[in-house]
Amino acid sequence: MADWLDLEQRFFCTPLRAHFMMFDRTIRHCRQCGAPVARRLPDDGDTKLRAICTVCNTVHYENPLNVVGTVPVWGDQVLLCQRNIEPRKGKWTLPAGFMELGESTSEGAARETTEEAGAQFIMEDLFTVMSVPRVGQVHLYYRARLTSDVFDPGHETMEARLFKEEEIPWDELAFRTVKETLEHYFADRRAGHFATHAFDIA
Ligand SMILES: [Zn+2]
Repeated sequence: MADWLDLEQRFFCTPLRAHFMMFDRTIRHCRQCGAPVARRLPDDGDTKLRAICTVCNTVHYENPLNVVGTVPVWGDQVLLCQRNIEPRKGKWTLPAGFMELGESTSEGAARETTEEAGAQFIMEDLFTVMSVPRVGQVHLYYRARLTSDVFDPGHETMEARLFKEEEIPWDELAFRTVKETLEHYFADRRAGHFATHAFDIA
C-alpha cells in the first residue's frame, strides 16, 4: 500500500527521484535461477529493452501496476482516510491500494476500502481510470454507497471520517489521482449525472 503513494509523491515532488524509484522496481535478478539480468533486446523481434537472464535467457516483462480504490459516499459526504504510515503520514486519501493477483478491479477496490476504513458499503460504477505512465501505474476508482457511517479503520489509517464538499482538505490530500477523482466527483454531482472519466496524468 505504501509503495504507490511513495512513487507518485516522489514523482510530483521530485521527478528525478521518481525516475530512480522506477528503476528500484525493475528486476535485477532472474526469477527462475537467480542470476543477474541484463537489459537488452530479445531475439524474437521485440523492439523494447527487456530484463533478460544472463544465464538461462528467461525474458522478464515489466508492466504497469493497477491501483484500485473507491469514492465512498454517505449522503452529501465523502469518506476520506488520514494516513497513519509514511510517506505522507497525516495526509488524507480515498481508500485505495495495489490490486492483488486473483481479484478483479472492483474486488480489489472493495478490499482496500474494507481494510483501510472498515466501512460498510455497496459498490457502484467505475468512476475514474487514470493512466500515470511516468510511474508505470493505472489508477481506477469506483463509486461506493456507504450503508453505515460507523467506521473501523485498520492500522494504515489514523482516522476515517466524512467530509462535505466544502470541508475537503484540498491542500492536505496525499495523492494527485485522489484530488482529480474528487474534483470529478463533485463536478458530476453538481451536473446531476455520474459518468466514467478516463484520462492521463502526465
Ligand atoms: Zn535465469
